[in-house]
Amino acid sequence: MIEQHKTYIDLVRNYFHFQQNVYGEEILLDKPVHLLFQTEKDRSEPGLSLIEEKVMQCSRCSLHKGVHKKVFGEGSKEAKLLIVGEAPGREEDLQGKPFVGKAGELLTKILKAIDFTRDEVYICNILKCRPPQNRDPDPQEIKMCFPFLEEQVSVIKPEIILALGRFAGQTLLNTQTSLARLRNEIHQYKGIPVFVTYHPAALLRDAKKKYDVWEDVQRLRKAYDNLVGDKPEWQPGKK
Ligand code: SF4
Repeated sequence: MIEQHKTYIDLVRNYFHFQQNVYGEEILLDKPVHLLFQTEKDRSEPGLSLIEEKVMQCSRCSLHKGVHKKVFGEGSKEAKLLIVGEAPGREEDLQGKPFVGKAGELLTKILKAIDFTRDEVYICNILKCRPPQNRDPDPQEIKMCFPFLEEQVSVIKPEIILALGRFAGQTLLNTQTSLARLRNEIHQYKGIPVFVTYHPAALLRDAKKKYDVWEDVQRLRKAYDNLVGDKPEWQPGKK
């Protein structure tokens, strides 16, 4: 561990010396800083960093042209609960993080209501680039981007997935079934139980859906206790 730490320090030192020699005091970063210092070992082992690097370099569809920042996803790499939304919105595109606007605040509250923090789960989207004016993703964009999510799932190995919104649910489950119907069942994605509920942005437009989401996430939390059981058993309303 100490040896690995030293390797990283040497890599950082060498990188900044190189930058200083070539560009003077100005530092040029062409990718997220943690991707700059991957060792050969990191590169040879499939992992989230590698997938993130591929996303950052991706131009499979035209959405990459208009983005400020791609939004790969964030959270615990060992998360048992994976949250999948639709696509970055305006705030997410500016910050490069998933669910950081008003819908993100609401998601944080929903998670808190079932005794999860954002750090305990992993949060990402079907699309990694923001569609212009937050329009719906088109089928071709979903087809191009979905393999990245499949890779994220295979690395994180969640035990439960919560799909937020119609696009997330229908894409994961490869179906055209309506969200209203998807909500009422537990589905499977490659053997992983999938719950589907409304996207928090939909709750901001229609507060009446809050009760439906509350029902859905309570069912999810009970399933989590049965399937994973790594948290104190949850009882609604109890702190
Ligand atoms: S949306 Fe996905 S497939 Fe399209 S450019 Fe962005 S990362 Fe690539």
